[in-house]
Amino acid sequence: MRIILFGSPGVGKGTQAKILSGNLNIPHISTGDILRSAFDKKTQLGIEAKKLMDKGELVPDNIMIGIIRDTLQEEKCKNGFILDGFPRTTAQAEELEELLNELNINQKKIIDITADEEEIIQRLTNRRACKVCNRIFVLFEIEGRNTCPSCGAKDSFYQRSDDKEEVIRKRLEVFNNTTKPVLNYYEKNNKVIYVNGIGSIEEITQRILEKVE
Ligand code: AMP
Repeated sequence: MRIILFGSPGVGKGTQAKILSGNLNIPHISTGDILRSAFDKKTQLGIEAKKLMDKGELVPDNIMIGIIRDTLQEEKCKNGFILDGFPRTTAQAEELEELLNELNINQKKIIDITADEEEIIQRLTNRRACKVCNRIFVLFEIEGRNTCPSCGAKDSFYQRSDDKEEVIRKRLEVFNNTTKPVLNYYEKNNKVIYVNGIGSIEEITQRILEKVE
């Protein structure tokens, strides 16, 4: 199964993509995680990308398209994948369409997770992640703890540098102006599956599974 998980920053794409990846046994491809990992390895790409990410801006299309071209051709993506954070511009969506044609992939599911903007700002400012297993938590879930409930790593919680309120507002502006039109692009030729992103993590996973299976 090929899934494109669409939705605003903070709507829960990453959390759901990780769970679905386990349930459906297909890899979770997060372009944000790929960029953060490039930065951790101190590659030139990672260092340049981080400057844009910290301002809430997008990394240029040609770089992102190159990353996705390489990744989707890897053996692990042969039987399916979940794309999280790509495409974010109409140009990326067009290039992805071309790549999927080249790879003879003609079935994909586009899922749009929805939630209102104030809820999203709340979630993002209260979000923490484990730097070892990448699991995302809400602040209250880990208050007073110094080991990750998911992987057991010690002192591994951090707040993403782009989860500060002013950067969040910029990311939402970029989403509304540049990324939302991607949905119009898909609505023209595909069935978009809409999923309400308000509720518990388990409820939302259930809603998605009911619609894709
Ligand atoms: P995410 O983890 O998906 O929220 O992505 C974090 C940041 O990485 C974004 O705010 C962008 O700066 C950058 N990024 C991730 N995916 C893309 C993409 N497809 N196109 C451009 N920039 C991206």
